[in-house]
Amino acid sequence: MLLRNIRNVLKHYNLTPAAIEHKRGRIYIKTGKTLEAAEKLTRVFGISSVSPARRTTSEKKDVIKTALDLARATAKNESTFAVRCHRVGTHAYSSMDICKEVGKQILTNLKHRKLKVDLTNPQHTISIEIRDAEAYVYSETLQGPGGFPVGSQPKVVCLLSGGIDSPVACWLAMKRGCTMLPVYFDNAPLTDEKTTAKALDQAKKLFEWSIGYPQRVYIVPHGKNLETFMHNAPRKLTCLLCKRMMYRVAECVAEKENAEGIVTGEAIGEQASQTLTNLRALNEAARNYPVHRPLLGFDKTETEALAKKIGTYEISIRKAKGCTAAPNQPATEAKLETVKKAEEKLDLEKMVEESVKATKIVTV
Ligand code: ATP
Ligand code: MG
Repeated sequence: MLLRNIRNVLKHYNLTPAAIEHKRGRIYIKTGKTLEAAEKLTRVFGISSVSPARRTTSEKKDVIKTALDLARATAKNESTFAVRCHRVGTHAYSSMDICKEVGKQILTNLKHRKLKVDLTNPQHTISIEIRDAEAYVYSETLQGPGGFPVGSQPKVVCLLSGGIDSPVACWLAMKRGCTMLPVYFDNAPLTDEKTTAKALDQAKKLFEWSIGYPQRVYIVPHGKNLETFMHNAPRKLTCLLCKRMMYRVAECVAEKENAEGIVTGEAIGEQASQTLTNLRALNEAARNYPVHRPLLGFDKTETEALAKKIGTYEISIRKAKGCTAAPNQPATEAKLETVKKAEEKLDLEKMVEESVKATKIVTV
């Protein structure tokens, strides 16, 4: 699955490699565009690190020459360095022989750079990996996102809002291998179209982490529902009724799309609607699917830091008119019974049905 995802990413960016090999817990990608490919692969879940490497034979002289060339291209004046070597297979030399010889050659040939060896805390490391007849030499390791390959878990329906939190929640679900189907509720006319644009741009950004998988977004018209809640139920319950309706529609989408759960960006106490008591009142609306909340224990600063890392933060903070349906004094400890009672007066079934019917699917 990981190999397939890697191939899809490289193909998508026109970096189609000459070969991909999977040997002994490592994946070797032969490409003429090493740095570019490495950079793109830092967005593939399941990869813990990527090292753009130069390949040569495991002949001692080739290894030494390649390592020296790399040091020449990368070691800065007056810096400290170390040479590390791992070796698998049978060779006429030991790893230590290689380290010593490469170190010596670097010191001699790059004397003018005034380099020093520091094996404990080097500023620069030349890494050499010798595997049977081949050797790989690199000085840089890019961190991958970790996690599991997208597609290794079933699909989840993600409530994506245009705000800061939900894209991060979506990303965390993808990180653990889920394919992600964003569902955006369009609150127009109680918000402006800028919010919709933000949600779609976020979806697009998130799909950069699951290249090769469908890039569809569900857009559910939700303004009419909101107006119904504002005018036909206690005002302080608007947000809870709104969210419960979102869950119900999300369940219909999950059913249709063969998803296994619903993901939201809710965190304990983040908004009035997200106190623990209110989350309980919300949960009851989702009858057949679990609601997963990857951010449950995150502080806002932690969520923001992740949003910046994954590239959605800049989109989230773009100016847009917030939802104007939110009451001034929302219920913070709504009793489930009170919420259900308010809903009894409404034709929820019809509201769900009409929302689903009016839903649009766009590819971003
Ligand atoms: P976010 O930053 O994700 O908008 P928030 O802290 O602003 O979260 P709420 O607006 O109460 O909190 O939303 C809580 C969660 O409900 C969101 O994280 C998202 O999963 C879902 N949600 C809220 N509004 C929408 C919307 N218009 N469309 C889809 N999902 C939404
Ligand atoms: Mg929000």
